[in-house]
Amino acid sequence: IDENSTRRRVLLKLSGEAFGGGQLGVNPDVVSQIAREIAAAVDQVEIAIVVGGGNFFRGAELSQRGMDRGRADYMGMLGTVMNALALQDFLEQAGAATRVQSAISMTQVAEPYIPRRAVRHMEKGRIVIFGAGAGLPYFSTDTVAAQRALETGCTEVLVAKNGVDGVYTADPRTDPTATRIDHITYMDALQRGLKVVDSTAFSLCMDNGMDMRVFGMEPAGNVTRALVGEPIGTRVSV
Ligand code: UDP
Repeated sequence: IDENSTRRRVLLKLSGEAFGGGQLGVNPDVVSQIAREIAAAVDQVEIAIVVGGGNFFRGAELSQRGMDRGRADYMGMLGTVMNALALQDFLEQAGAATRVQSAISMTQVAEPYIPRRAVRHMEKGRIVIFGAGAGLPYFSTDTVAAQRALETGCTEVLVAKNGVDGVYTADPRTDPTATRIDHITYMDALQRGLKVVDSTAFSLCMDNGMDMRVFGMEPAGNVTRALVGEPIGTRVSV
């Protein structure tokens, strides 16, 4: 890796749901496949990753079932750290150098979130995985992806989805007339109430001129394609 190169730098958002392969917990086969696709791109692009935690807990769901929302959200954040460690393990097995940074201090398992250090890691060719979301209840990891991308100088947020391959005119799982959109503005996505990415994330990107691409993790190879800049899925911009 040439430390002085000015390579493209992107932030990849991976949902927790993908890690579980549709079930609670981590599916090692799924995570190792994702890791190999990421490792295949690391020579061409600087990569930061935000991992979700929906395969463990979602705070909003737990609070609907009687838990205090803040405490439930902290459980959600802790779930994202488990995903971050699983991804780190499989990335290192695939030959990539990695660091995990957590927004909640747990120094035995992860560095604290230090944005300038994260940038330095990426310049050295290390993949940085951000765990524990923003460390704040009522936030989603989509929003954290936008914030981390802004703070660490990424040019684009790449939102990897499973089960859907981009932004649609309506929810394709419930509306058979829904069609995929190649390009949409944040304002349009917000006005149409499209929920493929949450509205806080859309508006943070809109207000700060951050580009986004929403794409499907299937077929195999798509994560690598998105990382190296192929125009798959839907581009979202100001
Ligand atoms: N969470 C939070 N603050 C954050 C990020 C996440 O409270 O900054 C909690 C929230 O409860 C959320 C859960 O962590 O439901 C898991 O994250 P998310 O739902 O974004 O994961 P994904 O849907 O991407 O798997």
